Amino acid sequence: MAAKTTNRIPFNRPFITGKEMHYIAEAVTQRGVGGDGYFTQRCARFFESQFGIEKTLMTPSCTAALEMAAMLCELGPGDEVILPSFTFVSTANAIVRLGATPVFVDIREDTLNLDETLVAQAVTPRTRAIFPVHYAGVSCDMERIMAVAEEHELLVVEDAAQGVNAHYRGKALGSIAHLAAYSFHDTKNYVCGEGGALCINSSEFIERAEILRDKGTNRSRFLRGMVDKYTWVDVGSSYVPSEIACAFLYAQLEALDTIAQRRSEVYDRYEQHLKPLEADGLLRLPRVPAECQTNHHLFHILLPDASTRNSLLEHLKSQGIGAVFHYIPLHSSPMGMRCGYHQGALPVTEDLSGRLLRLPLYCDLTEEEQLQVVGQVSTFLEDHNRVRAAA
Ligand SMILES: *Cc1c(COP(=O)(O)O)cnc(C)c1O
Repeated sequence: MAAKTTNRIPFNRPFITGKEMHYIAEAVTQRGVGGDGYFTQRCARFFESQFGIEKTLMTPSCTAALEMAAMLCELGPGDEVILPSFTFVSTANAIVRLGATPVFVDIREDTLNLDETLVAQAVTPRTRAIFPVHYAGVSCDMERIMAVAEEHELLVVEDAAQGVNAHYRGKALGSIAHLAAYSFHDTKNYVCGEGGALCINSSEFIERAEILRDKGTNRSRFLRGMVDKYTWVDVGSSYVPSEIACAFLYAQLEALDTIAQRRSEVYDRYEQHLKPLEADGLLRLPRVPAECQTNHHLFHILLPDASTRNSLLEHLKSQGIGAVFHYIPLHSSPMGMRCGYHQGALPVTEDLSGRLLRLPLYCDLTEEEQLQVVGQVSTFLEDHNRVRAAA
């Protein structure tokens, strides 16, 4: 018999619709592969029409879109930006690389999103922007956050990397704040290997965004016939994605509803099968407030303490199940320390990130595989609990 493979159930497996190669071939043989070509435009128009975004510019990654957003906010030394510490590094890097100061705020216990009640308290005369992150595709309290922003004349940038095709009070995430960023990284709901988009909902940013994206030139105005030659007009970089990646992505967008439906089925099955463990106090399931429509980006459980989480993670690994944790809070990282933070500064973030475990979730995950995952989680936790009760 062949040796048992280590990852019998991987953490992630990108869904392939079958049309990706077809569209890439179409780009190569018929439409051309130059930047901002046919498929790049199709993807951008898709987001604008489906999600009510004023202007979408496709980018090579969400990281690139966040960098552009921070530049559009004209952040610089002395400026403060409010964001959660419980996020991916790219949210903070966009701010720090311009010399601005990240102000980390604690998260809500239920959604693990930026705690909107703490945001107003964190505002100082130096605050310029708020970067809320929609964790797991569940929206932050955008009503409160936008109200604080309006009161203090701040800009808001949604990190909607995980929030593509999720909604809040009927609005698509990415369509709510002044600016927003999407990700199509391999681990997200809709993928093209590496990819992203900048969503612009305030028209005053559009022209400068096009310039930043195209090496600081007014080439997009030239292509639209609005100027008779194009030239260097501002600082910029190369934030136009590959047309081949967008051809891939377009196939995924055409299957938007199918992908959403399949993720929701997988998510619901976890919920159904893990409910009894929650009732027994062995773990806590995700919480989705009534005003939020999730895109089922990820399924996480919260264990009673960090040591249980760590041993469960080891156990699942030993059984070939690809579970992971995240995030190491940014404020407690070496870079966070250099920004002046210390362990203990954000108690809810530190507590929850230590107890969180993500289970495999992807379109092709079968019910049988899910039952194996649930079975391993439940036998481990029941044994673990018995041993602790006896001690
Ligand atoms: C994935 C992710 C990013 C980065 O996305 P890339 O497309 O890989 O650059 C940024 N923020 C959050 C919250 C993410 O989950």
